[in-house]
Amino acid sequence: MYKKQLGNTGIEVTPIGFGVLTIGGTQLNLPIEDGAEIIRNALERGINFLDTAQYYRTYSYIREALKGTSFDPVIVSKCLDSDYRGMEYAIEEARRELDRDLIDIFLLHEVRSKEDFNDRLGAWECLQEAKAKGLIRAIGVSTHHVDVAELVAETPEADVLFPLINFKSLGIRKGQGFGTKEDMAEAIKKSADKGQGVFAMKVFGGGILTKDYRKALEYVFSLEGVHSLMIGFGSRDEVDRIIEMVEGTLDPNYTPDLSNKRIWIEQGDCEGCGRCIERCPNDALYINDIGLTYVNHDICIRCGYCAPVCPSRAIIMIG
Ligand code: SF4
Ligand code: SF4
Repeated sequence: MYKKQLGNTGIEVTPIGFGVLTIGGTQLNLPIEDGAEIIRNALERGINFLDTAQYYRTYSYIREALKGTSFDPVIVSKCLDSDYRGMEYAIEEARRELDRDLIDIFLLHEVRSKEDFNDRLGAWECLQEAKAKGLIRAIGVSTHHVDVAELVAETPEADVLFPLINFKSLGIRKGQGFGTKEDMAEAIKKSADKGQGVFAMKVFGGGILTKDYRKALEYVFSLEGVHSLMIGFGSRDEVDRIIEMVEGTLDPNYTPDLSNKRIWIEQGDCEGCGRCIERCPNDALYINDIGLTYVNHDICIRCGYCAPVCPSRAIIMIG
């Protein structure tokens, strides 16, 4: 597969990356060898870009996938911590658990506002120092928020931006409300124009847009300034089909197999409003004693009707 320069980082990446969150404990929870085998297949098929995070607990899959091979993928990790020590620990943990002296890219994970970025300046300082010491090649921010993407574009120390974007604007935030794909696309262009590397997440809106497979991919591929798309694969077949899409050989009648599709509620974002419960045709959702919403996976039919009604976009469909 061809590669692109990731902005001015000096790092070359394939147009598709593998978001390893999907195979780990918070999602498909595959056995280590099964998940590692999917990663290995992606590397064999030419993908050279892997995304993980301290929070995902997926380092063991990557380590297992690389064991005994000569693959040397570009690895991104990230940390939710705010302070210097928390970030310092996360970097050391990644170096140790991935068995690497150098982590290619390390990010502040999921920055939610300019204020949140300012609250995390200790962690940001740590990233800059780790880069100066040669422990990291490039640093940046992952975000769902247009305001944060714009801030990153104006931050010369940032080498990369990892924004959320898709053709239905699902999950894009701006200020206290929702942003649009046009808002985010403009911020992405500003970032790329400053020489930052940009790789996009949630191209399929957490799984909701997989029925528009080609459209979802083509939209993000068409955006100016996006160097790579990070996709959460759950099987070898999904990897193989997307490579065919990039190479122009995909069967025009291809319809993704959604049998691995799952639903997940981001409890930190749930406001307990109950709208999803009203919408669910299967009574598969309930609110617990402290007002958080849970899914009864035994009766959830993974129809996805609940996700669009959630005002805080806390419901994520996977697969
Ligand atoms: S995916 Fe469908 S069945 Fe499952 S919780 Fe949502 S609305 Fe209910
Ligand atoms: S609609 Fe969203 S915010 Fe409201 S209860 Fe359901 S998950 Fe929580």
